[in-house]
Amino acid sequence: MEFCKTLAVTLNRVDYSNTSQIATFYTLNYGKLRALARGSKRMGKKAPGSIDLFSYNEIIFLKKEPGNLHLLTEWELLEDFPAFRKEIERFYSACYVVELLNKLSEEGETDKPLFHLLLDTLHSLSRDNNKDLSLLTFELQLLKHLGYLPGLGECTQCGKKFPRNSGAVFSSFQRGLVCKTCHGHSEGGDGLGLSPPALSTANFLAGCKLSAINRLHVPQKVREELKRLSTEYLSQIWGRPVGTWR
Ligand SMILES: [Zn+2]
Repeated sequence: MEFCKTLAVTLNRVDYSNTSQIATFYTLNYGKLRALARGSKRMGKKAPGSIDLFSYNEIIFLKKEPGNLHLLTEWELLEDFPAFRKEIERFYSACYVVELLNKLSEEGETDKPLFHLLLDTLHSLSRDNNKDLSLLTFELQLLKHLGYLPGLGECTQCGKKFPRNSGAVFSSFQRGLVCKTCHGHSEGGDGLGLSPPALSTANFLAGCKLSAINRLHVPQKVREELKRLSTEYLSQIWGRPVGTWR
C-alpha cells in the first residue's frame, strides 16, 4: 500500500452513499484516476469538505491495485473557479472541457502537459472573453495529446507536406487531413475543405500556449471552418455525432 500526493482537477463526481462520493480526477502525476472520498458529503465543522466539479486540489490517496478504486484520504482545495458559478456560458464551457477529457482519456496514463493544458483552459474560460478560441485550442491540443490528430502539416495518405496556400481536405473516409490530389483519388467522395488560413491557424492553435490566443485575430469564417473540423474529428473518434453535445 502506498500513499500518493498530487495536484488534481475534478472531472466528475457521483454519489456513493449518503456521505461519500466517487470522484474522477485528472492529476499531474498519475493521469486520470478514480477514488472513493469518504465523508465528502458530510456537513459540519469537522467535515473534510466537499469535492466540487472543476475544482483544483491537492490530494493524497491510498493507491490500490489496478481496476480497484483508490481511497482518497486528504484533499485541500486550491482554487474553485467562482466565475463558473456566476455565468452560465462559462459554466457550460467548463462542463464540456472536463467531460470531453473524461470521455477521451484512459485511467493511469500520465501526461503532465495535458494536466497543464486542462488547468490553463479552465483559467482561460473563467477569466477571458474568447470562449470559442479557448475551446478550439483545447480540443485540438487534446486530440494531439491523445494521439488522434495526425500531423496537421502533412497528408495522412501520401505523407507529403501540404503545399503553401493550398489548404487541405478533412476526409472521415481517409481518416484525417489529406492533400487535394489524394482526396481526388479517393472513392469516398466525402470531405470537408479547409482553407489555407484555417489550416495555418489550426497548426498554430494545436501548438500554442493558451495565453497567446488573446492576441490572436481569427476571422469568423476561419473559426467556423475550425469548429467544423474539430467536430468532425471528435465525431469520428466517438463513432457518433458530437454536434449537439458540443
Ligand atoms: Zn496526399
